[in-house]
Amino acid sequence: MTFAHDTEVALVAAAALVNSASDGDSLQSPEDLVGFLDAQGWFGSRAGDLAELDAVRALRPRLRELWRLPEPDLVPRVNEILAEAAALPQLVDHDDLGWHIHAVPQDAPLATRMAVEAAMAFTDVVRAGELDRLKTCAAEDCDDVVVDLSRNRSKRFCEGGCGNRENVRAYRDRQKED
Ligand SMILES: [Zn+2]
Ligand SMILES: [Zn+2]
Repeated sequence: MTFAHDTEVALVAAAALVNSASDGDSLQSPEDLVGFLDAQGWFGSRAGDLAELDAVRALRPRLRELWRLPEPDLVPRVNEILAEAAALPQLVDHDDLGWHIHAVPQDAPLATRMAVEAAMAFTDVVRAGELDRLKTCAAEDCDDVVVDLSRNRSKRFCEGGCGNRENVRAYRDRQKED
């Protein structure tokens, strides 16, 4: 394991949220959001209204920035998110998940919890000196963000199928050469 389990889950969920903005945007309605939350295993309160959807959508560019910023600029941004939400880390155990950290209550607004979970995960990554695991997809035509949790830091492509597409392209190129 590269990071604590809850950190890895939070990083993957944050990346999925950021990447939901690409390819025509898969978070366009409250129903889309329900599907996303269920797929990512989000617990806690949900309003299910347009205001919540807007707040979650507005969070995406802020989280994307965390992938982009160099460490000296990233750190104040992470601290800002935690301060804005008055984050207070607490050990909790619910739904048989084992002990993990919540830094805002489960009834805090969804977008706040999403922002804080991502920020808390980034504090772990920064402290571990592992920011190079947070990448952008290596495919030429894709800007999706990538969380590389592999042992040998070899993950280069996003979850959107770019790895397969690149393999097919490389295979065709080799056939052309033959
Ligand atoms: Zn939890
Ligand atoms: Zn990609």
